[in-house]
Amino acid sequence: GLRDTAPETIFDKLIGGDIPASVVYEDDKVFAFKDINPAAPAHILVIPKDRMNLSGLRKSSPEHVEILGKLLVAAGEISKNKELGFGDGGARIVINDGEDAGQEVPHLHVHVLGGRSMVWPPG
Ligand code: 5GP
Repeated sequence: GLRDTAPETIFDKLIGGDIPASVVYEDDKVFAFKDINPAAPAHILVIPKDRMNLSGLRKSSPEHVEILGKLLVAAGEISKNKELGFGDGGARIVINDGEDAGQEVPHLHVHVLGGRSMVWPPG
């Protein structure tokens, strides 16, 4: 099953409103907010409201297909929002999965970065 017994992270406090967040999109499954330490002129995090054991993408299974799709569809929509600082040139959509990738919060999150051109490969 998908019952999530891992400790809550700071993202649950943002979802619950215990810590203020600059929310840019929300529906019954998805929550999106401005990153507190933006790495680009536009930097939004898109997360599942219910973590469903997804501390990282490596925990995903066929049960997560729907939420993973919703996260990416929301990320694509957000990346077109000029009011958030995104331009016409597209965006970088990133999941840091695990310590080598620099993941700090064990609640799956999709970074949506834009508003400037970026280099590849990332550091
Ligand atoms: P990670 O390194 O795990 O991929 O990304 C975690 C992101 O969460 C970081 O970019 C960090 O700035 C952001 N973050 C951590 N704590 C908070 C917070 O309390 N509020 C907001 N808005 N972002 C946070």
